[in-house]
Amino acid sequence: MSKQSKRREALVYHAKPTPGKIQVVPTKKYATQRDLSLAYSPGVAEPCLEIAKNVNNVYKYTAKGNLVAVISNGTAVLGLGNIGPEASKPVMEGKGLLFKIFADIDVFDIEVNTENVEEFIQTVKMIAPTFGGINLEDIKAPEAFEIERRLKAELDIPVMHDDQHGTAIISAAALLNALEIADKKIEEVQIVISGAGAAAISCTRLYQAFGAKREHIVMTDSKGVIRQTRTDLTSEKAEFATHRDLETLEDAMHNADVFIGLSTSNILSPEMLLSMADNPIVFALANPDPEIDYQLAIDTRKDVIMATGRSDHPNQVNNVLGFPYIFRGALDVRATKINEAMKMAAVTALANLAKQNVPEQVNIAYGETHLTFGREYIIPKPFDPRLISEVPPAVAKAAMESGVAKESINDWDKYRDSLLE
Ligand code: NAP
Ligand code: MG
Repeated sequence: MSKQSKRREALVYHAKPTPGKIQVVPTKKYATQRDLSLAYSPGVAEPCLEIAKNVNNVYKYTAKGNLVAVISNGTAVLGLGNIGPEASKPVMEGKGLLFKIFADIDVFDIEVNTENVEEFIQTVKMIAPTFGGINLEDIKAPEAFEIERRLKAELDIPVMHDDQHGTAIISAAALLNALEIADKKIEEVQIVISGAGAAAISCTRLYQAFGAKREHIVMTDSKGVIRQTRTDLTSEKAEFATHRDLETLEDAMHNADVFIGLSTSNILSPEMLLSMADNPIVFALANPDPEIDYQLAIDTRKDVIMATGRSDHPNQVNNVLGFPYIFRGALDVRATKINEAMKMAAVTALANLAKQNVPEQVNIAYGETHLTFGREYIIPKPFDPRLISEVPPAVAKAAMESGVAKESINDWDKYRDSLLE
């Protein structure tokens, strides 16, 4: 399909037959006068009074517990940059669609007209009573770090900036499996991270939680290697500054075991790839065009284990493998946070799922005949029906065990069955 017809197809999809991608649907009867008197005045006063007496009743009588806000100010939308709140709305509606179809979570997309950190934080805090959880989306770094840190500390519902943690969770699952295939230990591998933005910083922190050693990590940004001698570093970048005498990506790549690209297209050359250690792991995640073209990478080295952000190659690091299920698990035990333990539980669940036999319907959905754990299949596929019964229970259990769950699940088989309904 030509570029022009792809563009047209996307615009028609969004415009017809109804503009946009989501709508609000009532969940109660509304056919008779009696129904209406229950749905609204006078019947509605009863739940209002119950909630006024005990605010926790809001979960019993309203949709709060299954409602997530997808909130953006449009400052870092996809790879499109700062295009403003209105222009971010298709993305936020799209995220709403994905939450709904994969985890039956309802979403209000909220586009906020401010680039001021404090105003943004106050806006989210003020509307938080409506929601069971907050998914921050497409907010530029470094503001995104402060916004998320503050909201996590000041709200008692789960808050997650998906561009940071979603990517970290999926890529960590892929990394654990790639390391297994390469027969290397996370504690021992040399890792180069290209990019030092929202995604890169959070990915690197999560890899450390799984054992990657700070002294084995070299991070680069648009100015080259992040060294301790640089004077222009934000506190997030300074956390990963190396004392090693390296200046360029090319220097850093020599003998590296792992390259994680969360930066920009076509900056990893075949020569750099050739300078890596055996069985190099290359996650070139810049969208839409990776740090090195997939075909070029596999033509350059047969032993490369490669992932990208694209659906037209094997091993797509796709956030949709994470956020619907992480929020599902968090909401179902009324977690007050999405903490490290919950994120790590999601990683392990995803990594393990990729090692199980693949159901036939997944092969069919992707036009494959025998997806099996290996170089070209290190993470599950988005249309894998087992994700909903594997990931939320792992996340919910971790929330309970780490003490952030306000409700507990006792019958896990029953819970798993309920997720499949
Ligand atoms: P971001 O916050 O804007 O960060 C981009 C980072 O890339 C910045 O640190 C920037 O350096 C750095 N950079 C730019 N040009 C570079 C170069 N030539 N060499 C090395 N670093 C360079 O963006 P983000 O949200 O982290 O996303 C980064 C990229 O990852 C985007 O392409 C995005 O589409 C992709 N991504 C993919 C997935 C996925 O596949 N699932 C998920 C998230 C993000 P400065 O700090 O010096 O400006
Ligand atoms: Mg995003």
